[in-house]
Amino acid sequence: MRIDIISVVPNLMSSFFEHSICKRAANAGLVEVVLHDLHDFSEKKHKQVDDYPFGGGAGMVIAIEPLTKCLDTLMAERTYDEVIFFSPDGLVFKQGLANQLSLCTNMIFICGHYKGIDERVREKYVTKEISIGDYVLSGGELAAAVCADAIIRLIPGAIGDEMSALTDSFQDGLLAPPVYTRPASFQGMDVPEILRSGNDKLIEAWRHEQAVQRTMQRRPDLLTD
Ligand code: SAH
Repeated sequence: MRIDIISVVPNLMSSFFEHSICKRAANAGLVEVVLHDLHDFSEKKHKQVDDYPFGGGAGMVIAIEPLTKCLDTLMAERTYDEVIFFSPDGLVFKQGLANQLSLCTNMIFICGHYKGIDERVREKYVTKEISIGDYVLSGGELAAAVCADAIIRLIPGAIGDEMSALTDSFQDGLLAPPVYTRPASFQGMDVPEILRSGNDKLIEAWRHEQAVQRTMQRRPDLLTD
């Protein structure tokens, strides 16, 4: 999988992709994340990428020229399954969409900034618009990192125990059950006996029951979806 991320502040994401699971997946040759600085595609003297909004009002808008230049350059090099723009008015990102996108070969992520990007780019190039929740961020970089992480960890081999991603919250429509590690007893708090019984069937049943209970208490909406 290859993910090209277009941003006006790519450095915000570089450390993120150089650590943990994203780094491991990259080292294993499972994913390549390429960060593009939109300023490199500006033909203006000071590499400016934004401009005043038509109609007036507060805030700047990312201009169409550098963005289309960057997109056209990438699209001439390979075929992309998706061109994703991160935006508060997009489809709210959920596990199902992460699963779906984990099957893609090449994707472009566009991070907005300021008031957003010129609408014509959205109309002409963008295939999916994703929001990571009902709040407004200063830029799409954190949203891009969130989605890339959720997608990359699903690629087989990206995380140590391949089964682990499939037993996380949401995969089966339930939240995950509680987890414990050693010591079995700490300041009077004991790990549930059943988890130490060695009886896999009972443990499985206990975990399922806990997952259902937790989902009923915290996210009953998941059970009716
Ligand atoms: N004027 C826009 C907000 C711009 S915020 C509006 O009111 O909808 C600047 C950029 O941050 C956006 O273009 C988008 O790329 C990113 N962003 C902000 N909030 C986001 C969210 N909840 N999900 C995904 N991207 C978001």
